[in-house]
Amino acid sequence: MRIVQKFGGTSVASIERIRKTADIIQSELNQGKQVAVVVSAMSGETNRLTAMARELSATPAVRELDALVATGEQVSAALLAMELQSRGIAAYSYSGGQAGFVTDGDHVRARIKSVESAHLLVHMQAGEVPVVTGFQGVDEHGNVTTLGRGGSDTSAVALAIAVEADVCDIYTDVDGIYTTDPRMVPKASKIDRISYEEMLEFASLGAKVLQTRSVELAMRFEMPLHLRSSFDLVQGTMVVGEDETMERAAISGVAFNRDEAKITIMEIPDQPGIAANVFGPVAEAGINVDVIVQNVSEQGFTDITFTVPRSDYLPTMEIMRVLCKQMQARDVKGDDTVAKVSVIGVGMRSHAGVAKAMFDVLAVEGVNIQMITTSEIKITVVLEEKYIELAVRALHTAFGLDRQEA
Ligand code: ADP
Ligand code: ASP
Ligand code: MG
Repeated sequence: MRIVQKFGGTSVASIERIRKTADIIQSELNQGKQVAVVVSAMSGETNRLTAMARELSATPAVRELDALVATGEQVSAALLAMELQSRGIAAYSYSGGQAGFVTDGDHVRARIKSVESAHLLVHMQAGEVPVVTGFQGVDEHGNVTTLGRGGSDTSAVALAIAVEADVCDIYTDVDGIYTTDPRMVPKASKIDRISYEEMLEFASLGAKVLQTRSVELAMRFEMPLHLRSSFDLVQGTMVVGEDETMERAAISGVAFNRDEAKITIMEIPDQPGIAANVFGPVAEAGINVDVIVQNVSEQGFTDITFTVPRSDYLPTMEIMRVLCKQMQARDVKGDDTVAKVSVIGVGMRSHAGVAKAMFDVLAVEGVNIQMITTSEIKITVVLEEKYIELAVRALHTAFGLDRQEA
């Protein structure tokens, strides 16, 4: 059996935690498994490094930012390799570049182009343990790049695929995927098995337990993920292809994201091409537009409202002010205190009335819905951020997701 084990920030947060992580690796080796390890930076380290850069400049050069934050993972990889070696295990740390991770040159959010890690496989087969820095690679010119926050998950899945591992174990500080973030809803229930498709919705709608791209990759290559705790070695959650044994409740979980901002461009003279005019420059600026609503045109005018990540709010407003003039629209207004709440479930395909049930719950709680968007397996609403806890808890209870006390 061949496995890739990924340890998140809390699993390498201190010398004591590094020892505990080494215990976990050692126990897998003792069972005769071939093991490669991917580590995150010690928890808080990526934020600490980023904050230092921001003290020097509001807009630090992204190449240098990557060179800086990539050091976090190098520290934990080297420390963990030392600890393994002191136990007589042949373990060696590798930076992303050394491990063969080649990315595009889009600093701070680079995408993996290839993983050339045949050399690591040779070590694994010899019972040695490569300890690879997560979250990073090098571009074709050898510049250090990083994969976006939470990117070590994606590094681990990519490595698991490259060395043809049987499973990728993601060790973190929760013992599985829950029906919603257990930090917000203590009554959230643990899910034993979840399909890639649902997990992808969970992740992309705000559940930061796995980076979205790691789930996309796992789905594409059918790499099973086992999300579990390094604090409590119980069975966690398996993220796998959809199968017959999965539960078919209408709703599997509730996700939320506070990192949202909403922009409306009002009374645009309606004619073919206006949507392309509005979203073209936003896309060119590398900004991801999410929920879009265009209302019916009245007397030749229409409004378009859309959401963007909160960090892109100001640049998007700038772009819209320019466009507003060019397109002779009436005005632009924005709000960066909105949030998004979604209910997710493949069971929605076979259960009618989920949308109505969701809107009823929010109405009873007095939560005003600002925007709505749906897909086959999710319904998302945009609302005022201050209602987020209320909305998530009420929906979690109403859809029968609260943990039943034994
Ligand atoms: P790591 O540093 O190990 O990558 P993260 O902080 O990135 O850990 O991810 C784990 C956290 O994800 C948990 O502590 C939990 O608060 C959060 N989380 C959000 N949504 C969920 C969910 N649906 N199930 C489990 N954890 C969730
Ligand atoms: N250290 C990086 C971060 O904090 C990558 C990761 O932990 O996955 O985002
Ligand atoms: Mg993470």
